Amino acid sequence: MSAALEAVPAGPLAPESLLRRVFGHAGFRGRQAEIVQHVMAGGSGLVLMPTGGGKSLCYQVPALCRPGLGVVVSPLIALMEDQVAALRQQGVAAAALHSELDEAAQRDVRQGLARGTLKILYVSPERLTLETTQARLAEQPLALFAIDEAHCVSQWGHHFRPEYRALGMLAARFPGVPRLALTATADPRTVEDIRAQLGLADTPVFRGGFDRPNITISAAPRESERGQLRGFIRAAADGTGAGIVYCGTRARAEQTAEWLRGDGYDALCFHAGMPPEEKRAAHRRFARGDAVIMTATIAFGMGIDRPDVRWVCHLDLPRSPESWYQEIGRAGRDGLPAQALLLYGGGDIALARQRIAASPAPDEQKRIERARLEAMVSIAEAATCRRRILLRCFAEDGPEQCGACDICRDPPSLFDGTVAAQKLLSSVLRTRLPSGSHFGAGHVVDVLRGKLTPKVAQFAHDTLSVFGIGKELSEQGWKGVARQLVAAGALDVDLDQHGALVPTEAARPILKGEQRLMLRAEAPAAIAASRGRPRPAAAGAPPAPADDALFEVLRAWRKAEAEAQGVPAYVIFHNETLAAIAAARPADTEALALIPGVGRSKLERYAGAVLRVVREAE
Ligand code: ADP
Ligand code: ZN
Repeated sequence: MSAALEAVPAGPLAPESLLRRVFGHAGFRGRQAEIVQHVMAGGSGLVLMPTGGGKSLCYQVPALCRPGLGVVVSPLIALMEDQVAALRQQGVAAAALHSELDEAAQRDVRQGLARGTLKILYVSPERLTLETTQARLAEQPLALFAIDEAHCVSQWGHHFRPEYRALGMLAARFPGVPRLALTATADPRTVEDIRAQLGLADTPVFRGGFDRPNITISAAPRESERGQLRGFIRAAADGTGAGIVYCGTRARAEQTAEWLRGDGYDALCFHAGMPPEEKRAAHRRFARGDAVIMTATIAFGMGIDRPDVRWVCHLDLPRSPESWYQEIGRAGRDGLPAQALLLYGGGDIALARQRIAASPAPDEQKRIERARLEAMVSIAEAATCRRRILLRCFAEDGPEQCGACDICRDPPSLFDGTVAAQKLLSSVLRTRLPSGSHFGAGHVVDVLRGKLTPKVAQFAHDTLSVFGIGKELSEQGWKGVARQLVAAGALDVDLDQHGALVPTEAARPILKGEQRLMLRAEAPAAIAASRGRPRPAAAGAPPAPADDALFEVLRAWRKAEAEAQGVPAYVIFHNETLAAIAAARPADTEALALIPGVGRSKLERYAGAVLRVVREAE
């Protein structure tokens, strides 16, 4: 590499210049500038930003601008490796230190440290808390510590990692070195816990905007799960990028991967029960494949760095808006349109409630979990803009209507469901057996609609006064009423009794006519999946990549290049950069350098090849 094009110069560089020169970005976004300035001045703090919000630059830029080594704590080896690969592409002397390096690689890192040639070091918490590592770090100037995925320090979060606890010692052991913790978790209790554990209680919290306008969000009752998922994938996938299906259990994740493969998709599976090497292999294939689908439990989370996840589908109700938002936030990090679909049923809601009730957790924690779950239910059953309800969970006020959720695009009609609810609740009560057991929604609805099934005959339910009093609604309409009564807490679902509907105290005022109930009408085809390709978000969302032959040729070139180097494709250039190149058709290096995402190092590496591809495609 010639000295003139060295991406990271030896002398100090202002953050804005470095951002342009190394990362090829025109300017900071949101609160990045403020955070970078704070750390440049030696300050510590906590950064809360949604996934895709741009947390990495908050520590990478000051690490490169301040004298000394930037140390980044990261919980996952796959994540570290991809970040290191991306930084090296940008001409940054970066390395990772973790338990799986071979002897030679470890020696390289040690030498880099000893010679002071490394600028950014990713390290696992286990390694960092070793005395030998700390002694080595203490011998050199340090630019900062960044603690990525900082919610791992908190027992309140879903990803508690005991090793993270030990990071509290950094403050005492390395006084004067700024410590920046970063997470996408915004839940107040976890936030306070992170600050306390990491000794950041007296430092500022930087909360970035939580809205992700390029992700269109939808939710629908689960009717024909496979059909709904198939339709959604067809509408959301564009043959590139990746998709994620989140499942409530390991078995469901495995089965879903299997039938998707049967459909001809390149579907992988990931859950905590798999051996580590299989998990790592799945991670790698996910990071590199085009049109690859990961079906997973929530164990698949951290380390999903690829910016072109085009869609995320949940087959089961997540336990809180925080986890749902974090999971769907993995889509569309490149800022291009992405889709999220949530499928759920009344059974999910009941099961989640029962799990909390039966858990041995302290009451205080159960109360919090219950509140989170109910917030999630209200998002799933929303009759007004879903994004607005979601953002309110993060104490953010969105516009009345976001224009990029299923409700805004196709508002559901509401009807006075008081009489329907009374009919359904009466049918539940009248069909109760002398033993006290109840029937499930299927049978209750058959009775309402006056359907003479063998089960109806067996229990002589055709002789009940409620038999056939509900012909005004379809079967699906009645199931919708039942589900909404479950969501409203007037019915419970007894999962030990094959999903029997059991009325609760809250059913009483409805039956007595003391409470009016507005319900959502279930349109016959009211599933997001069948609505075809969603229109791009009205405002705020950038345009999709130019539908251009040149874009495809550039992608093919990038794929070959990535394979030759053994790195993920986005590490070479993001889709948005390729799209910008395809649109601008730069004729020379100067023109190429103006494209966002093209820094010095990439220019040096790829200008020749890219300009040739552009020229030949004329
Ligand atoms: P996070 O770690 O918060 O999930 P990343 O740091 O990976 O998010 O950033 C998400 C995406 O946004 C990346 O593709 C990154 O290149 C891009 N990005 C971040 N900051 C900027 C910026 N100032 N200008 C342009 N792109 C940016
Ligand atoms: Zn909306």
